[in-house]
Amino acid sequence: MNHGVAGRAYLKRFYRALLDAIFPAKCLACGSFFRPGLSGAQDLSKRSRFEISLGGYLCASCLAACRPVQSPMCPVCGLMFESRQGDDHLCGPCISHVPVFGKARACGVYEKSFRSLIHLLKYRSRMQLVRPFSELLLDTFQRHWSENEVDLAVPVPLHSKRLRQRGFNQAFVLVRTWKRQLGLDIDESALKRVRMTAPQTGLGKKSRLENLKGAFAVGNANRISGKRVLLIDDVYTTGTTADACAGALLKAGAGRVDVLTLARTP
Ligand SMILES: [Zn+2]
Ligand SMILES: [Zn+2]
Repeated sequence: MNHGVAGRAYLKRFYRALLDAIFPAKCLACGSFFRPGLSGAQDLSKRSRFEISLGGYLCASCLAACRPVQSPMCPVCGLMFESRQGDDHLCGPCISHVPVFGKARACGVYEKSFRSLIHLLKYRSRMQLVRPFSELLLDTFQRHWSENEVDLAVPVPLHSKRLRQRGFNQAFVLVRTWKRQLGLDIDESALKRVRMTAPQTGLGKKSRLENLKGAFAVGNANRISGKRVLLIDDVYTTGTTADACAGALLKAGAGRVDVLTLARTP
């Protein structure tokens, strides 16, 4: 064993603990002060994906409030069933209206502290959240797809006016490093939001569909044709946005469209 390396690792841990004790972190969700090294499971091998990625940003109770999306779930839209027993099965909405995308998966349930963190990135430009969110998304991608199943990642676009207001597309920044990390092509301009739409919040499923009619168009069909596309977004709510985007991509000749989001409504 190399004692020099072990010694340095020990010192590093010692200083980290010392710094955490002197400068506690402020939880981004509830504002309370906490010691980052002490939130989450003490046995590092037992730490959940959320603890590993968000342990430096959330106190122990806000961290515990983050729920990963797990089976039993709907194999199509990824809805997590409240009962934690039984097998995956189609949910009611997917039986009555089969989405045009193949499958949708999400990292966590869109609620409580996880929802607050997503809002901080989206509406308050807390860009330090990009790295942990991107890690979570990558982990979920690798759980549900093998890398050779997808040719191209396409972020759900914002309308150019909204993009100018916000300064960044939250869906794009989450996968920006994937080209380097996975060798996966990312096409930020594959889809365009050609019509400014009212916010979907508060609309029923039917009005959501109406609201998005003709909202998306494919930039260059040659770059989509025959490709297996992974559509990226921050939140999956009723699936109407994902379905409208997938519809436009399939019309342009995409071979298959799947959906990956950071969060999904319960
Ligand atoms: Zn907290
Ligand atoms: Zn479903």
